[in-house]
Amino acid sequence: MKKDHQNSGIGFNGIVGQEVPVRVLNHLLASDRLPGTLLFSGPGSVGKYATALTLAKILHCDRVKTGYCDCRSCTAIRTGSHPDVLAISRERTVGVEEMREIVALAGLKSSRGQERLIIFDRAENITVQAANAALKTLEEPGAHIRFVLVTDTPEALLPTVRSRSYRLRFSLVSQENLLEFAQAAGDDPDDTDTLKAIRFASGRPGLYLRYRHSSEYREVINSTGTWLTGILNSRMVPRIQDALDWKAEFWDYADKLSSAERTMNLPRGGDADDVRKFFESPGKYIVQPANWRIEGKASSEKRWGQGRKAMLLTGLLRRILSMEMNRKSVTAISRLYDFMEKLRYNCSFDIALERLYYGLTGITG
Ligand SMILES: [Zn+2]
Repeated sequence: MKKDHQNSGIGFNGIVGQEVPVRVLNHLLASDRLPGTLLFSGPGSVGKYATALTLAKILHCDRVKTGYCDCRSCTAIRTGSHPDVLAISRERTVGVEEMREIVALAGLKSSRGQERLIIFDRAENITVQAANAALKTLEEPGAHIRFVLVTDTPEALLPTVRSRSYRLRFSLVSQENLLEFAQAAGDDPDDTDTLKAIRFASGRPGLYLRYRHSSEYREVINSTGTWLTGILNSRMVPRIQDALDWKAEFWDYADKLSSAERTMNLPRGGDADDVRKFFESPGKYIVQPANWRIEGKASSEKRWGQGRKAMLLTGLLRRILSMEMNRKSVTAISRLYDFMEKLRYNCSFDIALERLYYGLTGITG
């Protein structure tokens, strides 16, 4: 049985600051032309995954009402237990075997005759072989299934995957929207901690939450900041041994950051309404949408991919530097940017990191 999406009251109201993709989605829903494979691209932590989950709620909501909804279906999506919504959010790659299972699922009718939605958060983690195995399904998923690919590095996807997807671009949100989001989390908009977090987040609601509400994350930022300033201000002529030590430290901080990211108890993938509920009833309101059944297995794999970790840490270092713009930090940011570009083009970590080290130590007043 087909549901009439227009009668579904739950909407994208909780998604702050993404007017363009939201308008397009509403239009596609209203005209019943939602494509089989959607690609949500744009900067990290701006609400792509939350939008994908909201779309799932809209497709499956049991009620006709507006705003926040706690019907059985919406709650199941929020807690990762909906039989027809698969949210695959992991830090490791999706291999060909797993993709075959997913493709097989795509061929099945869903339990209640409704559309099945499969969300790949961090779609760049799909291996080339797995993507190839899925190409035909992504192109023509069939009447009962839809895919949403979420990524902040669309260039890392196979061109053939990109060309088969309907792309929606997300962007950084405005200062006002970020303030609105902060208030949804119950934060005082005049509090200096709130303002500092807004400044740090620079347009990314997800980062705002981390900075404002995870002391572990703030600790990593502080220690990383000190480490970075140390190297920028060192007046020593760097030796090879220093570069080796520095590389070890780099991975150490990358580990700390990824651990903070993973253990954080924050509503990942929640929209502003979820965020409000989450902070209103601490410990009771769950937002844990990732639900693929081998998720348990994935969490026992201790390490994230090196590339992802290096990108995460480099992004953080750039953000720290951009908070106090001076000549030195501007140069350092461009060195970090070069490093990220090298990683994107699969240069050796070792060589790229060494060059970054000499690049950073070579910056003078
Ligand atoms: Zn609902």
